[in-house]
Amino acid sequence: MPLLDVDIAIIGGGAAGLATAIFAARRAPDRSIVVLDGAKKLGAKILVSGGGRCNVTNAVVRPADYWGGSPNVIKRVLNAFPVAQTIAFFRELGVPMHEEPNGKLFPDSNSARTILDALLREAARLNVRILTEHRVNAIDAEGGQDARPPKEANVSAATFKLQTSQGPLSARKAVLATGGQSLPKTGSDGHGYQLARSLGHSIVPTTPALAPLVLDGHFHAGLTGIAQDVELTVKVEGAKPVRLTGAMLWTHFGVSGPVAMNASRHWHRARLESKPVHISANMLPGKTFESLDARLIALAAQQPKTVLHNALSSLQVSGSQARPASPGVAQTALPARVAVAILEHLGIGTQIPLAHLGRDQRRKLVHALLEWPLPVRDSRGYSFAEATAGGVSLNEIDPATMESRKCPGLFLVGEVLDVDGRIGGFNFQWAWSSAKVAAEGLTG
Ligand SMILES: Cc1cc2nc3c(=O)[nH]c(=O)nc-3n(C[C@H](O)[C@H](O)[C@H](O)COP(=O)(O)OP(=O)(O)OC[C@H]3O[C@@H](n4cnc5c(N)ncnc54)[C@H](O)[C@@H]3O)c2cc1C
Repeated sequence: MPLLDVDIAIIGGGAAGLATAIFAARRAPDRSIVVLDGAKKLGAKILVSGGGRCNVTNAVVRPADYWGGSPNVIKRVLNAFPVAQTIAFFRELGVPMHEEPNGKLFPDSNSARTILDALLREAARLNVRILTEHRVNAIDAEGGQDARPPKEANVSAATFKLQTSQGPLSARKAVLATGGQSLPKTGSDGHGYQLARSLGHSIVPTTPALAPLVLDGHFHAGLTGIAQDVELTVKVEGAKPVRLTGAMLWTHFGVSGPVAMNASRHWHRARLESKPVHISANMLPGKTFESLDARLIALAAQQPKTVLHNALSSLQVSGSQARPASPGVAQTALPARVAVAILEHLGIGTQIPLAHLGRDQRRKLVHALLEWPLPVRDSRGYSFAEATAGGVSLNEIDPATMESRKCPGLFLVGEVLDVDGRIGGFNFQWAWSSAKVAAEGLTG
């Protein structure tokens, strides 16, 4: 089989890989660009994203929406291709988008297929060659970007030798766009880290991120199917508590929903470092011990005959609280079934009139409502995670080009890097922005 020789080989044809190919081909139409992917069909992760609708980006994207490596590097990359340009890029590809609550942007078609098809169409228009079922098993750099091979070599000025499942390939520049480890059946199984390591990179240890949480005990099971807005506090020994607000869904195994999934990376990182970690839920975000205690006292004075569980389920999640409502917190009441479950757990009668609630019981109840412990045993792991925390260290990347500082001519984009965004379109935005920066580096 003749050795395929290209200017740019992109390993991985997910969001970041396809976008890199498009941006690079637009800037340098004369370069030969190939996208290699182990999967039979491209874009499995794009298709399942956002519940099949693909949350492409967010109206407001800040470095604080991400965890992982240096916020300065993240900021620089995001600034190089901000949200407005993402919106313009997709509009140009015939995919207008609209904004939904919490700033999430979706295609007007409400179909992730539109996003994938638009990317594939544009890649084809630009003559990007896409080779599916081409898993890259190994990669070798031959002396760095500036190395010149001997005259007798059958490939001129090739730098990288790739061993694919369909044979070898050589390329002057290579891009690692192999993603993380979440949902490994889509093809992102973490092999990219091995490729990066073989080229001299160090990997910040990986854990699942954006995964539902598995809880010990039985409390959660009785509440299966109930969604409520909460504020979660993740306390890790020796670190500032992390507070996260949003919707939480009780399930048969524990808790899911955006806020629980956002918390999962913090839990995993703490466990990775063998640090004790505790997660508690404030069932009435915005309320403090003092404000809730005062509210219950006032309610007891105004409506002494109202029974406790009715009083609790009339409490609003947000309103005239001590701090402004956080994004994602709806003005909803504490779900009645949750109120009853908490009262039963505390051994406080649900039918007690407010006037009969003693001071100690009231304070115990307030404490429980604001600091309900979630006994996390684990997350549901990579098979249910939407992202991976950890990855190739950002310190080893030039943020002006996404080029490796360890291996000249190698570029890294997307989730293979040590960056994980919260739920809301942030991970795709990282893919688009890092792709744009890399394309400029590749063709500069
Ligand atoms: C269920 C789910 C829902 C999500 N929803 C959203 C959302 O709505 N919004 C959002 O912003 N983010 C979402 N994400 C996260 C987002 O999908 C990822 O962050 C993003 O797809 C990462 O893009 P990537 O190109 O870096 O990696 P991937 O999309 O993982 O692509 C990597 C590609 O590389 C290929 N590959 C891997 N190793 C090799 C190899 N050795 N040789 C050849 N090919 C290889 C894989 O087959 C794959 O096609 C979701 C994730 C999941 C799992």
